[in-house]
Amino acid sequence: ASQTEEKDLVIIGGGVAGYVAAIKAGQEGLKVTCIEKRGALGGTCLNVGCIPSKSLLNNSHMYHSILHDTKNRGIDVGDVKLNLDAMMKAKDTSVSGLTKGIEFLFKKNGVEYIKGTGTFASENEIKVALNDGGETSVVGKNILIATGSESTPFPGLEFDEERVITSTGALALKKVPESMIVIGGGIIGLEMGSVWSRLGAKVTVVEFLNQIGGPGMDNEVAKSIQKLLKKQGMEFKLGTKVVSGDKTGEKIKLEVDSAKGGKPETLDAEVVLVAIGRRPYTAGLGLENIGLELDDRGRVVIDSEYRTKHSHIRCIGDCTFGPMLAHKAEEEAVAAVEYIKKGYGHVNYGVIPSVMYTHPEVAWVGQNEQELKAANIPYKVGNFPFSANSRAKTNLDTDGMVKMLADPETDRLLGCHIVGPNAGEMIAEATLALEYGASTEDIARTCHAHPTLAEAFKEAAMATYSKAIHY
Ligand code: FAD
Ligand code: NAD
Repeated sequence: ASQTEEKDLVIIGGGVAGYVAAIKAGQEGLKVTCIEKRGALGGTCLNVGCIPSKSLLNNSHMYHSILHDTKNRGIDVGDVKLNLDAMMKAKDTSVSGLTKGIEFLFKKNGVEYIKGTGTFASENEIKVALNDGGETSVVGKNILIATGSESTPFPGLEFDEERVITSTGALALKKVPESMIVIGGGIIGLEMGSVWSRLGAKVTVVEFLNQIGGPGMDNEVAKSIQKLLKKQGMEFKLGTKVVSGDKTGEKIKLEVDSAKGGKPETLDAEVVLVAIGRRPYTAGLGLENIGLELDDRGRVVIDSEYRTKHSHIRCIGDCTFGPMLAHKAEEEAVAAVEYIKKGYGHVNYGVIPSVMYTHPEVAWVGQNEQELKAANIPYKVGNFPFSANSRAKTNLDTDGMVKMLADPETDRLLGCHIVGPNAGEMIAEATLALEYGASTEDIARTCHAHPTLAEAFKEAAMATYSKAIHY
């Protein structure tokens, strides 16, 4: 049965981009429908991304700490055993609680939720193949494409999610593998590699570039976190390209080549995690039916107001330009609905924080040192190590540092890069400072509570405009 009533907004995809836009549209009084095929709201982030990975990161860190880091804290523990089933159940409970929470928010804000796969029938009509069988169609004055992304496959190594896995398989392994090779030392490789390394797997990360961390991470910070992860037991092969793979034997074999043309080598492991990036997902959307084109990386082409060439069809989140981050998708969702409702919206793409939830965490916002150098922008640097911070010392968790980059003339903050405990929370302060155009002296003259890790942030600012007190 088709719906006859025209909606103000029809959203295809109920991930972070789609569901936030739906709630915002409901709040703005728009008649809105959200179509999602997964059977649960929240998309990659809630179901197989941010949330389940952080659950496993948190609990594997606790397990690892209890095994290796209790004696000097005056805690004697007995037999410590891993119950992987229970750890996975804890993860599933967090996920289902949050996805159901969004269904509740949909009801609260009057959002219609259709479980099914949406395809463009025309520029205003979306046909939906319902998950429960049958079909319907929805007509919208405005349409928002928010279909997200998927793991980029490695040619010749087909995913089976047990031996050759994407991040989704890495969130659901049934036992701890004896060995794991991670292809790609970006955020997914390092987060999921950390989880399985802490739980007992021998993890080797093979990275094509000469630095880990993926795009955006400051060189100095990347070197520092690599050293710390190595100390925790992870192995790294940098400047090394995986050329081909073979999964016919008991172990998976990978042919690797030095990126600089050194000797080729064969590596093998029980499980291979392919983490070489994600690509926009628009399959089955029927973009060809409305003449919408993708760029050479499969992204839906949009203008600065998220409009495709059909100005009532917009696109946001992972399936278009920009970093593939949940909070970026969320900002765009609010802005896109504001454009529709009010004609103006805003996202500051220069001030989007990144966090890698390893231990210690890595977090940054703004420009890094290599970017400033490449752009010939003058800068000054201030550093403060957590080993000189009282709270980090009392917590016996002193690895890492805060690094600030600022304009030498105006002292305006240009970027902040943190490797250290709770870096992911601390970066919010740097983000606010950057958004408001603060100078490092502004930050340094702001009173920070003692003893807190955030004092390292203040002292890095002091070191940038003058001198730190405690270092
Ligand atoms: P998605 O979340 O992918 O949602 C798109 C939705 O659209 C999907 O649910 C899909 O089923 C649906 N869909 C697609 N086509 C159709 C169709 N035709 N009809 C109906 N529905 C359709 N980001 C962070 O900021 N922080 C993190 O800690 C973080 N951790 C991550 C960990 C992992 C392992 C992964 C894989 C990603 C992580 N990300 C993280 C990235 C984050 O998940 C994405 O940036 C975010 O989910 C993008 O949101 P989106 O709504 O654009 O796309
Ligand atoms: P990425 O782009 O961060 O890293 C991929 C890495 O793989 C790069 O360093 C690249 O040089 C390397 N690589 C590519 N081909 C290779 C080959 N043949 N051999 C060896 N190395 C190779 O991608 P990702 O880690 O897969 O993450 C995908 C997306 O998900 C990212 O955009 C990321 O921001 C997002 N994500 C974010 C978080 C977070 O915010 N905490 C967590 C997970 C994922």
